[in-house]
Amino acid sequence: MTIDKLATTVSSLKADLHIHTTFSDGTLTPDTILKYANECKLGALSITDHDNVGALKYAESRSSEYEIEFIPGIEISCRMEDIEIHMLGYFIDPEDKRLLNYLEFFQNERILRARKILDCLKEHDMMIQWEELKEISGGGSIGRPHIAELMVRKNYVMDYKDAFDNYLGDNCSCYIPKYKISPCEAIKLIAAAGGISFIAHPGVDVNEDELVSLIGLGVDGIETIHPKHSAEEVEKLRKIVREYHLQESGGSDFHGNKKLGPRIGDFTIPYDMVSRLKDYYNRVNLP
Ligand code: AMP
Ligand code: ZN
Ligand code: FE
Ligand code: FE
Repeated sequence: MTIDKLATTVSSLKADLHIHTTFSDGTLTPDTILKYANECKLGALSITDHDNVGALKYAESRSSEYEIEFIPGIEISCRMEDIEIHMLGYFIDPEDKRLLNYLEFFQNERILRARKILDCLKEHDMMIQWEELKEISGGGSIGRPHIAELMVRKNYVMDYKDAFDNYLGDNCSCYIPKYKISPCEAIKLIAAAGGISFIAHPGVDVNEDELVSLIGLGVDGIETIHPKHSAEEVEKLRKIVREYHLQESGGSDFHGNKKLGPRIGDFTIPYDMVSRLKDYYNRVNLP
């Protein structure tokens, strides 16, 4: 292949740097994700489970069979005042002790919280056993989507939306806040695990002033491309990227085929963005 042809092939490649699996609240296993990514010829992907790195070692080992570049990732839940912020970490070491210690502590907090939500639902005559919840979570992070799913299956609510609108959604009758670290702590954890930090879907969670405060904490970049960002928002975020000399990332925030949202390969970013990210990562990680 000539260099020109190779360059054209590379520049037409697509990637997805925001994907959830059964290790958090996604409905597909890492294996299925890789299979789909291979079918639609993604050049690179990152699995970014909520507060969980369980998928990463396995996915990394399988990705070479598919010739897909795999970037180990995570999406850490944090809180800045009353706002929930999601911090994406890329190129993290899934075996980093400090990160693993924190994730174990966080999982325990999630379990305590889920039990409290079940107790509350019981008071509303909705009986969900802990074992049922554990089973549906498939061994990953237990979250409100799993509880909502069981509420639907047991006909306690009409649908997923009903479960959130009336019981589980923020400030609803059975809402229990999640334990969360600050964005600053999340950035430190990601850096300690050798990774770089990106504010996830800022167009959804924060206004411009809040975004500037977060940038001031020392993130490496922001997620500009996300299905919930309008074209205008992407442009606005890119302007901020240039102004503050940041990196940009993007992805589908894929959670599985069952929930509304794009399928793997429907919503992608140009592979060039991954190349820039890798160049940056290599620059800041010089020995
Ligand atoms: P958790 O981490 O347990 O607080 O669950 C967070 C997840 O619940 C989010 O990633 C969404 O998938 C889902 N979620 C939160 N609020 C709503 C809502 N109002 N309607 C539907 N899904 C929601
Ligand atoms: Zn999620
Ligand atoms: Fe998120
Ligand atoms: Fe996400």
